[in-house]
Amino acid sequence: MNLRQLEMRLESLAGFERPTPRLEQYQTPAPVAARLLHHAAMQGAIEGRAVLDLGCGTGILACGAALLGASTVTGIDVDTAAIAVARRNAEMLGVTVEFLVADVRDPDIGWDALSCDTVVMNPPFGAQKAHADRPFIDRALELAGEIYGIFNEGSAPFVAAYTEGRAAIEEVIRCAFPMRRTFAHHRKDRVDITVEVIRLKRI
Ligand code: SAH
Repeated sequence: MNLRQLEMRLESLAGFERPTPRLEQYQTPAPVAARLLHHAAMQGAIEGRAVLDLGCGTGILACGAALLGASTVTGIDVDTAAIAVARRNAEMLGVTVEFLVADVRDPDIGWDALSCDTVVMNPPFGAQKAHADRPFIDRALELAGEIYGIFNEGSAPFVAAYTEGRAAIEEVIRCAFPMRRTFAHHRKDRVDITVEVIRLKRI
């Protein structure tokens, strides 16, 4: 499946029904999700690999990884409603993804069983709650050797410092991220922000 075909399949997915500001629920736009996944696939991190999507929301990254031939895909999110949408999305695409409702910060989930090859994630950026992305980075590094995460523009120096001695930044890819008006505190119908897809390799 080429990039454009992947993007078109992901375009058809349902998003959050009632996004919660506290959880920073923004669905990754299909072009950004497709680009991250396609790029990871070219590097051998998806096809035939066990992939985990942390904070999967409505499952766009998880479903895309399954479309690209991941051997197993698991999606985890703390929000039951989002997981319900994600399950329907996977079914609609005809892919198999195991979705779990869990908090990435919860130490008692039995994380060992969720070890995988690759983590893909678009965690909260920490706009509502400072450092909300840290537990995602920690969990990702615990579970996988390869991580592709979406972060705010300019996050790379923070991510490098935060993961020093644990991981190396292999790549930073800047992407336009069109955000539709989602929450009452948003004033414009659409804002284009720039995000960074950061590829981390565990040391
Ligand atoms: N990855 C999805 C959603 C991004 S929004 C996508 O790319 O479209 C961030 C997601 O992180 C939300 O779905 C939110 O519910 C989830 N989230 C926030 N805090 C969390 C936590 N502590 N544990 C698990 N999921 C969390």
